[in-house]
Amino acid sequence: MPALEIEMKSNIIELRNTRDRKIKQDTRAWAAFTSTNYTTALRQVESQLTQGILGDQVSARHLINTLNDHPLIGAEGGDFILGEDGYYGDTQWSLKGKTDFTELALLVDFLRMFTPITPGEKPEVSSNSLKHAAEDFLGQHYSPASYVSNGRLIWAAAALGLQLAEQESASHYLMIGVSEREHDYVKRMVRAGHTRPQADQHRPAGFTHLQTELEKCAIGETVIGRWVRPAVLAESFPFHEWLILLADRAGEVGQFASDYVAGIRDSDHRVARNPEDLLAILEAVPSSPRTDDVAKSVIAEWNRGSLPTPELPVDRSIRTARITSSNENAPGWGADSGTIEFYEYLCPFGEGKIIEEHDNTPGFREHDHWIRCDKCEAEWKFADGLSVREWRVEPKPVVIREAS
Ligand SMILES: [Zn+2]
Repeated sequence: MPALEIEMKSNIIELRNTRDRKIKQDTRAWAAFTSTNYTTALRQVESQLTQGILGDQVSARHLINTLNDHPLIGAEGGDFILGEDGYYGDTQWSLKGKTDFTELALLVDFLRMFTPITPGEKPEVSSNSLKHAAEDFLGQHYSPASYVSNGRLIWAAAALGLQLAEQESASHYLMIGVSEREHDYVKRMVRAGHTRPQADQHRPAGFTHLQTELEKCAIGETVIGRWVRPAVLAESFPFHEWLILLADRAGEVGQFASDYVAGIRDSDHRVARNPEDLLAILEAVPSSPRTDDVAKSVIAEWNRGSLPTPELPVDRSIRTARITSSNENAPGWGADSGTIEFYEYLCPFGEGKIIEEHDNTPGFREHDHWIRCDKCEAEWKFADGLSVREWRVEPKPVVIREAS
């Protein structure tokens, strides 16, 4: 045999051995942890359902370590603080032996389909809400998952490394750091009694793949197609951004644009890339003749290209009105002292705020600003290339994912 071939062959054997070793260790650990026998644990570790549909297979040892070592939900003094009913719950784990690992592996995949929030963002989706969505989504394909405990949902989220936060008042539920709008989309797709989304701008990237593969598993097909998280492309549609800006205007036009923005947020309709798109959207949703007239006047204004107007500066960015300001002396490092400046401005729609803060204390010197408004956060961003004091906000580009 040529040397290269021998080397490749030995590499393959090496890989296989590593894999077998990992499976054995995982299986032994899980069998011990759930007080079940090796075969029952192995059946789950080797099941099609647990191989990882939207990522690598979750390791049983990692799951166990999470309960022990996680910074928020990890054990204290050797006792688990996470139990079946949740964070500092009153119940211990009631492991059933035959299905626990499969259930947790599926929960990990379920959570993987969502876009995680970025560091610094606040987790906004309650584990209770996610747990119900997971039951409806997974239960159709794997009946033991038609009921999922709050504790297991939190366990899977912690193992996946999603951001977790306690609720404002003491609760067994935690807040989980996945996209709120994507969660809302999934909930409405799978839960009975909800209005189905009419557009897919908030459909999680892995939704279709996970659903398709679980359907295949359910009918005994064994092919698990590898999923690659699609690249996120941000695209600017000037017409759509202009409509967002119009929502700031008083009167019928402002109301029309506000309704348009709310429709995007709630997945009632898609993004209007151009005026023709807006007309097509209006044909598909129930609207009054008056609304159609307003739409026509909006489109006429767009077509006149009346740039710039007071509502639409050439660069599309705006400053909003200041509502409060404060300037306080603050102690710094050593004997020096400095000031902390704090300003609040209206957000673009006027229901929330834009906050600007300057810490001029020697040794700190931090300058920061952020948008504090549920409605505007997702549609607006700070314009690039400006200092914190000079900030301007502008509509965000539309996020488009490559077909997955
Ligand atoms: Zn706002």
